Amino acid sequence: MRVQRESYMSPIRSTISVRAYAAIYRLLNRVSPVDGDCGLLCGSVCCRAEDEDRTQNLGIYLLPGEDALFTKDEDWLEWDFSRAEDSDFPDSWNGIVYFIKCEGPDTCRRETRPLQCRFFPLAPHLTKEGQLNMILYPDNALPYRCPLIKNKIPLSQDFIKASYTVWRRLIDDPLIRDLVEYDSAYRRKSKLTFIYPHR
Ligand code: SF4
Ligand code: SF4
Repeated sequence: MRVQRESYMSPIRSTISVRAYAAIYRLLNRVSPVDGDCGLLCGSVCCRAEDEDRTQNLGIYLLPGEDALFTKDEDWLEWDFSRAEDSDFPDSWNGIVYFIKCEGPDTCRRETRPLQCRFFPLAPHLTKEGQLNMILYPDNALPYRCPLIKNKIPLSQDFIKASYTVWRRLIDDPLIRDLVEYDSAYRRKSKLTFIYPHR
């Protein structure tokens, strides 16, 4: 479905070029959380349009500038957008953020799936001292159960290191760093599972 026109608002700005995003996609095309299809463990619950109780319609926010990798005419994606100021984003975020919903695993295009899909079940986390870590996505923040998280199944080292490398690059962008800092501050008092680097 074509995205609605956002005539009077500007997309949130980004210092990550389209070329850099394309290189990041290519790097992440080569790695997966585990060998084989982990969707077989759970019926690909993280890729379904609704949560387990069918009460919440799931989708994915794109990072600032990531929309440039898409035509917005993709027949497997539904596009929407909102003002960052009206949603749960850092104060520094002003402008349009894109939110997309896919048709699910049957029509997923691996090479063009959004970044947020590619890192899961890892998330970037900044310590109070500003050190970047990859952590397991906190289970209690999800509307479904991921077996990789619940059973702490060991993840591929290539996947972990590629995710870390990419996030080190992404947080060079001040707004993306603000987002990671915002999410990290929110969860600092929770029990977290640190994956990489080990400290
Ligand atoms: S990442 Fe977790 S929830 Fe998603 S398909 Fe794999 S095992 Fe299932
Ligand atoms: S784009 Fe692909 S990986 Fe992402 S939620 Fe949809 S089916 Fe899953």
